[in-house]
Amino acid sequence: MKTKHILEKAYIPEPVEEKWAKFWIDEGVFVAQASSQKKKFSMVLPPPNVTGILHIGHALCFTLPDIIVRWRRMQGYNTLWLPGTDHASIAVHNVIEQSLAKKNLTREQIGREKFLEFAWEWKRKHGGMIINQLKKLGTSLDWTRERFTLDEDFSKAVRQVFVNLYEEGLIYRDYYLVNRCPRCGTVLSDIEIEHRELKAKLYYIKYPLVESKEFVFVATTRPETMLGDTAVAVHPEDTRYSKWQGKKVLLPLTNRVIPVIADKKVDKEFGTGAVKVTPAHDPVDFELGKKHNLEQIIVIDGSGKMTREAGDEFKGLDRFECREKVLLNLKKMGLLEKVEDYQHMVGHCYRCKTIIEPHLSWQWFVKVAPLAKEAIKVVKEGKIKFIPSNWAKTYFEWMYNIHDWCISRQLWWGHRIPAWYCQDCNEIIVSMETPQKCRKCESSNLVQDEDVLDTWFSSALWPFATMGWPEETKDFKTFYPTDLMSTGFDIIFFWVARMIMMGLKFARDIPFRHVFINGLVRDFKRRKMSKSEGNIVDPLDMIGKYGTDALRFTLAALAIPGMDISISEERMAGYRAFANKIWNASRFVLMNLEDEISEIKENELTLADRWIRSRLDRIIEEYNEALEAYKFYEAADKIYHFVWHEFCDWYIELVKPAMKERNKTSQAVLIETLDRILRLLHPFMPFITEEIWQHLPLSQKSLAVASFPETEKSPRNEEAEANMELLQKVIVEVRTIRAENRIPPRDKVNLWLKVRKEKEKRMLKKYQIYIQTLANIRKTETAADFPQKKKLLKGVVGSWDVAISLEGIFDLEQEKRRLEKGISKISLDIEKVEKRLSNTGFLSRAPKNVVQETKEKLKMLKNRKTRLEESLKDIFPT
Ligand SMILES: [Zn+2]
Ligand SMILES: [Zn+2]
Repeated sequence: MKTKHILEKAYIPEPVEEKWAKFWIDEGVFVAQASSQKKKFSMVLPPPNVTGILHIGHALCFTLPDIIVRWRRMQGYNTLWLPGTDHASIAVHNVIEQSLAKKNLTREQIGREKFLEFAWEWKRKHGGMIINQLKKLGTSLDWTRERFTLDEDFSKAVRQVFVNLYEEGLIYRDYYLVNRCPRCGTVLSDIEIEHRELKAKLYYIKYPLVESKEFVFVATTRPETMLGDTAVAVHPEDTRYSKWQGKKVLLPLTNRVIPVIADKKVDKEFGTGAVKVTPAHDPVDFELGKKHNLEQIIVIDGSGKMTREAGDEFKGLDRFECREKVLLNLKKMGLLEKVEDYQHMVGHCYRCKTIIEPHLSWQWFVKVAPLAKEAIKVVKEGKIKFIPSNWAKTYFEWMYNIHDWCISRQLWWGHRIPAWYCQDCNEIIVSMETPQKCRKCESSNLVQDEDVLDTWFSSALWPFATMGWPEETKDFKTFYPTDLMSTGFDIIFFWVARMIMMGLKFARDIPFRHVFINGLVRDFKRRKMSKSEGNIVDPLDMIGKYGTDALRFTLAALAIPGMDISISEERMAGYRAFANKIWNASRFVLMNLEDEISEIKENELTLADRWIRSRLDRIIEEYNEALEAYKFYEAADKIYHFVWHEFCDWYIELVKPAMKERNKTSQAVLIETLDRILRLLHPFMPFITEEIWQHLPLSQKSLAVASFPETEKSPRNEEAEANMELLQKVIVEVRTIRAENRIPPRDKVNLWLKVRKEKEKRMLKKYQIYIQTLANIRKTETAADFPQKKKLLKGVVGSWDVAISLEGIFDLEQEKRRLEKGISKISLDIEKVEKRLSNTGFLSRAPKNVVQETKEKLKMLKNRKTRLEESLKDIFPT
């Protein structure tokens, strides 16, 4: 076979990355085969929002599974990694409503139809951003199977699931107190609420008793809601209030008379022990109200404004304006007793951070407990495995305490709820097809529910609805259940749990076998990234600066399961240098190839050949073990050190004598090793490896579908490894002696080795070429003892003594002065460090690692001093 061509002098990532990203897609390299007989490995991409822009968390979340799927593909699996995007109701509403606001329009003014036209138009124009960024990142997704949650087929699946759950009684409609974001204009589910500590006030208000001059004191953080109070509640055993139970109070600011009720749910310790009850605006009061049959008066509407029920003076005010006004009026009337500082947890919208308003309204719910039961079981039984395993605990805790899921949203962009209301007889019809007539009274006066479904409702179906479910498609049969779901911990409830519940219920099997939970990406000081801190690392910037491969390698090398990642540009620059190192080594290999690459002949293998093949075989095994356990950092570390420190630093140097002799077998080993290295590195650094590999004589269509090197164990050679290790130690020792004594690199020296064992002596004789080449030795002699009367610099390697002769190298008098100067300088340094270490203040205050580093520095200095002193003694024996 002929060699192809030589690599460019320097590696420039951008054009190379662009070329291969396009090539892989154009050539259909990642297209899965539903009818393949090979073992399958499948994943679905957790769909990013269609409004999404790649951030560093995405980059991690997409790189890690890409490493796995590329590795599996090369191992010969029939792989599918299915991509797509989520329609993201709230996020798209934000975008469209903002652009409407610029034209002084609201969505209500333009109407549902026009609004949806705008949204689709926006999606066509801008919705592909995250997709292009995914391609740039080198993710090996099958783009021929790209899905969108509002696709026709997908929408049909969503409707099917809704109808089935409704018919089984697992979806129901109820008038209930739910969380509503006044800004987003929709209700939200419990897990879409972020509870944050808020510095607030606790107001003590006097409620006058009817036909009495006495007052009940109630404490509240939300005085504006008193306009909707329908009772005051006390604990039945609270003796302070027993005389007032069953009495009535006149609610200030309104003319309403409300009862004092007793209930064990009241916390005697909170405030005064007497609490106001607002059933329409507080979850606890809502339950209390139902139990005591209290009226539910809505005084705040869905947009956070006071209703007519709040009274003429307050209606139309924003809830916080109203609070001020209520307080002012109470003060005037002398009914505000006191105000205290008060810290408590308050629910905020997870999208826009607005304070949530409890909102009483008709909504749709999923009865989750029966679904959760099965979903708990499969994790308990180990059918689904969390990695790291402690996340299973988080999962169980949530699943055991799960509440019904509010799935209706007062938005337009999304899957409209397939429920119709008969305007004549109030019948509710839930169906796959749009009904023409009421099934009860035959009226055609039907109106569809205005709401859409929670976006997370449709994404729960992602693993199977993307594969054609409810049809029994070939894709579904071949690729479901999938093998791995890789995601962040914040999505366990939103996605993972719901995908498991829906998968079990509708696809009749688990959606994935493994759930890999990646850590959070933090800045180099381990701080959380945030706009306000200004420490956000933009992955696209990093790609521009260091190349995609360096970014990917950095993320993988830092990905220790269960740990957050602390990312730094220094690391990325380091891996960019690693890419250059690989490039330069590959250039060397390609330049040294002859036109014909021959077979490897066992009897022609040099020690270096046997050693590198043995080492690489070991690395392959360790690499595979690491990736099987999702230890990305370990696989990255193994291959990094092998490439840099064994292949580049040693083998490339060791192979030079064989290259000079045109040893065909060594040439073949060199190319074989490079070829395997590229295969091992490919999942981590797909672009540079593909580029180099395409220049190799044996390359085929694409490295992405080339076979992953198998560990054969036959190249394993303990003896070669042991011998090479010893030779390397000698070489390192000689190099150190040379460096410490400033022997110019070009000057050849003579080497004496005092070797005691006969076997080692023979080995050394046999392989002295390596020492001579790598340590620049003129002549090597093995002897039982060093020659007398020679000026020698000595060192030790295991049971051997080594020495190099100085004669003819340099001026000995000058060398003596240099050594003496060196020794006195180092003595001063030692003194300084010792002083520091004897300072008790330093020892107690400095961080542990600094103290440790200082101690190591001292050891190093002392070592160096001893060496210099020995050198001096060697040259000028006293
Ligand atoms: Zn909001
Ligand atoms: Zn009807």
